[in-house]
Amino acid sequence: MASAAASPAPVPAAAPREPPAVSDDASLLDALPLAAAIIALENDGLLLAAHNAEFERTVERSTVGQFTRLGEVCLRSGLLAEHLGGWFSGRAPGEVDFRDGDGFEARYYRLRLTQLPPLGCGTPRCLVTVTDRTVEVQAERNLRAEMLRDSLTGLPNRLAFTEMIEAAGADKGDGRGGHAVLVVDLLRFSRINESMGSLAGDELLITFARRLISALRAGDRLARTGGNEFGVIVSLKNGIGDAMRTAERIGKVLSAPFRLSELEIRVECAIGVAQMPAGLEPEELFRNAQFACKQAKLARRPQVYQPEEACAARRRFSIETELRRALEQDQLQLAYQPLINLQTGRVAGFEALARWHHGERGEISPNEFIPVAEESGLILALGQWALHSAARTLAEWDRQEGAALPLYFAVNLSAIQVARDDVAAVVGSALRSSGLDGARLSLELTESSIVQDPGRATRVFDALKALGATLAMDDFGTGYSSLAYLQRLPIDVLKIDRSFVSAMMVDPDSVAIVRAVLSLAEALGMGTTAEGIETRELAATLAALGCDTGQGFFFAQPLTAEQARAFFRERRNKGR
Ligand code: C2E
Ligand code: MG
Ligand code: MG
Repeated sequence: MASAAASPAPVPAAAPREPPAVSDDASLLDALPLAAAIIALENDGLLLAAHNAEFERTVERSTVGQFTRLGEVCLRSGLLAEHLGGWFSGRAPGEVDFRDGDGFEARYYRLRLTQLPPLGCGTPRCLVTVTDRTVEVQAERNLRAEMLRDSLTGLPNRLAFTEMIEAAGADKGDGRGGHAVLVVDLLRFSRINESMGSLAGDELLITFARRLISALRAGDRLARTGGNEFGVIVSLKNGIGDAMRTAERIGKVLSAPFRLSELEIRVECAIGVAQMPAGLEPEELFRNAQFACKQAKLARRPQVYQPEEACAARRRFSIETELRRALEQDQLQLAYQPLINLQTGRVAGFEALARWHHGERGEISPNEFIPVAEESGLILALGQWALHSAARTLAEWDRQEGAALPLYFAVNLSAIQVARDDVAAVVGSALRSSGLDGARLSLELTESSIVQDPGRATRVFDALKALGATLAMDDFGTGYSSLAYLQRLPIDVLKIDRSFVSAMMVDPDSVAIVRAVLSLAEALGMGTTAEGIETRELAATLAALGCDTGQGFFFAQPLTAEQARAFFRERRNKGR
């Protein structure tokens, strides 16, 4: 906003002098419902040619500071004189806002300039109208102040915080350290709110905010950026360490218990820190600090934003979105890797492995998308699809053969499916709709599906067994299963993890582990499958050690359904 009062006069302006008789103009101006005057550009400067009574009254009202005579200021003020001069020469806009006076007493005006036909002698003229916008500006200000304030704590709110970040970014300070943004999340706040009521929750937030303030240094700024989330801007003199020290102080002031209506409660918070690099949008910086705060919740200590982690998280997020779409549009396939009877060399079955060929990203490994599917819950849909799809393919092979083939399909079941889905019902439905016998499916479960909820696992395993399916413990040896459960659960096969198998040729300990698993399986009456057999030697050694079944690149990579069927036929024709 232009401040008329404070500006020097860069352009010499003429003092007002008596206008020539323009009574027509004056009565015309009197008819206007707002303050108006006519100003002419004469050789020696600007001339107040006529004005109406409202103009006079506006001038009278404006008795603050130097703005004692608006008419005079219009002409004397360097800025307005310059503006009018500029406007007459077509360089300045026809509207200008300016302030008269400072602080509470300031008044705000808007000047509009409209060209009038020149006088007979060619003197250019303009109509100046003046609107007193003081009330409007103040109302706007109050509204804005309300909009930027959190009413509970009186702190700046999220909107204001973004502006504060922007201002801090623009302020180069002493040019040494810049700033950092901290996001402080009051953990488990909703539980306190629910159990003690929202009044107690409000009280806690107010006290929490006070304590935060006490942990800050002069110049640091605090805002309430969400229900239970606060933002802090810290100026850095000695690098990011300053922000970490602030985080430490915050941790300390929050460690003492809070008194809430007769109760003493302890609260915890998570703190994420993001340093302000040049050119980053305030919103993005804030999101970075929020991301670091999420990491801090997992790590249980303050975390500084790491772009690589955020990049990985973004990829996980887009993988999740795209996987959802791929599942809906049936864009996943199953590959089938042969499971070979190590004693006879015959194909015992195939393990069905999910494959995702992404239009733009190319092949995405199940090692990447299965964990994303598990995290997002998409594994339920994926698992159902895999079971139905595998069962349909095997039934189709049987149909083409005219009889049930002497082989089974192994399908992987995630621990999340065991925990959240009715997997027995899903397997039952896949068997029913394909017409397959339960024994044609082997279900590969992991140790983690037992650990989380052994009671539920027992029920699920029993129900799967009741369908006639074989149960295999996948990646055996890498998880934490208790031998007691291994004995109690109806597990048929132990699949020895690839890490032990591939290390066998170089590491005697791995041989010892494989031997141990083989004898454990024998003692418990279970079969064994070795994963990751890549060489003839390994196949021979495992066969010699008594392992039943083998799987690995030595026999075949995971194949398409067509290739898998051809593989099976070829082996059978060779009598294997
Ligand atoms: P897994 O169930 O242990 O499957 C065996 C993995 O070892 C497969 O990896 C297979 O391609 C790989 N493999 C087999 N033989 C060899 C070998 O000789 N050398 C090497 N280096 N690797 C070998 P893949 O297909 O990448 O699958 C990885 C994991 O993803 C699977 O491990 C399984 O845990 C999971 N997965 C795949 N499909 C599904 C699915 O439909 N549902 C669920 N829940 N998990 C799946
Ligand atoms: Mg498996
Ligand atoms: Mg495995």
